[in-house]
Amino acid sequence: MKDLNPERVWSYFAEILEIPRLSKHEEKIIAYLEKFALAHQLPFQKDNAGNCLITKPASAGFENRATVVLQSHLDMVGEKLTETTHDFSKDPISVRIEEGWMTAEGTTLGADDGIGIAASMAILESDEIVHGPLECLFTADEESGMTGAFGLKEGFIKGKILLNLDSEDEGEIFIGCAGGIDTVGKLKKVTRPVQANRVALRFTVDGLQGGHSGDEIHKGFANAIKIMNRMLWNMDQRFKVNLVTFRGGKLRNAIPRDAQATIVVKEKHLGHLKSYYNTFMEMITKEIRTVEPGFEMTMKEVRIPELCYKKGFQRRLMNMIYACPHGVISWSPIIPGLVETSTNLAVLNDKDHDFIELVTSQRSSVESAKRDIANRVEALITLAGGVTGHSEGYPGWKPNKDSEILEISETIYKKLFHTDPEVKAIHAGLECGLFLQKYPDLDMISFGPTIKGAHTPDERINIETVAKFWDFLLEILRQVPKNNQ
Ligand SMILES: [Zn+2]
Repeated sequence: MKDLNPERVWSYFAEILEIPRLSKHEEKIIAYLEKFALAHQLPFQKDNAGNCLITKPASAGFENRATVVLQSHLDMVGEKLTETTHDFSKDPISVRIEEGWMTAEGTTLGADDGIGIAASMAILESDEIVHGPLECLFTADEESGMTGAFGLKEGFIKGKILLNLDSEDEGEIFIGCAGGIDTVGKLKKVTRPVQANRVALRFTVDGLQGGHSGDEIHKGFANAIKIMNRMLWNMDQRFKVNLVTFRGGKLRNAIPRDAQATIVVKEKHLGHLKSYYNTFMEMITKEIRTVEPGFEMTMKEVRIPELCYKKGFQRRLMNMIYACPHGVISWSPIIPGLVETSTNLAVLNDKDHDFIELVTSQRSSVESAKRDIANRVEALITLAGGVTGHSEGYPGWKPNKDSEILEISETIYKKLFHTDPEVKAIHAGLECGLFLQKYPDLDMISFGPTIKGAHTPDERINIETVAKFWDFLLEILRQVPKNNQ
């Protein structure tokens, strides 16, 4: 690693690799940073959420510049191959270099975000790098709940410009992210005994893509709960079916890829119902086959149950699911191709004895729009006679194309590398969104070297891009605007 460039960044990264630092177990990396600060006579602070701050005065001649916050996170994800005996609580990460990439031996590498910590340290120790007043903020527990960013108190940082060093594509500058909230509806089950001369059928929907409810919501993947409900709703219109069970989906942040339902119907309707099932299946297959080549449905007769849902309750449930929005709600007017607001109809759970639970989750980079779509889902649950609960949620980071630090960075990038950086936002959560809660005036951008396979044992960092990231970062520090507040 000694031969890699920039030498000081890699040298600190090599030290960081030795330090266990899984999310919520950051004591050792905190102690390491405290010792480092002491050795360099730099003020060190730690807050109750486990965030650390090391400050450094401006270089000579740069005292009048705006204070910059360099932010990275302390923790890393611990994933390993099944055959690997690595113990994340004590073993150092061992690495190898292959064709310009550094990767770990069967474990996550922790370049996310160890490389951000290393770069901050290399700047803190240097007597040559020029910069205005600096605050290096190291947040706790980014990977498993962002409790550090959530717990960041007002006044802990003074800077008005924040550079988040936790992005994973060199050449891209991030200027926005989505906030999120969960909206959960509960409908009290109303059942009655199954009448005579009925048959029972069980249906399944499976093989859909699923996908992440943030990153992949715009891909138009089908929703298994929606497909199942659409069939049941149509069958009820035609054959007066009674619902017995209905569930689907597993995780609130995944698009549901499977659903199961059981119904009872009068024996005399069985033939027609089966032929309707085939018609429906063919229609859906045709409708979604481009995006969902793996789509599968099954139907089989099962033992007749004792209870089914009462008609009124069943209608409220199926109408609610039919009317419930799912997918992209609006596109960003600022960044072409970015989803601004979306909602995911994620899970339908009927395992509770008394209630059916509908789990949905909403995302938006615009806080008021996030609230609005969550309210819309709540209104629908209320119409269906249910009660609604919301999670606490987390705020988004609305892209600001007039950001001063963005303008400076874009110009610098072009000058250094003779190409435009891509300015982007993501439809998922970042710590930057949370910072805005306590520091609404922060001017922020996020960037980093190229890391692939983050959060998996395949995590690797592109060595060349670390040098580019470093040059870019130092030039931004050199050109930070004057502090005119
Ligand atoms: Zn990260």
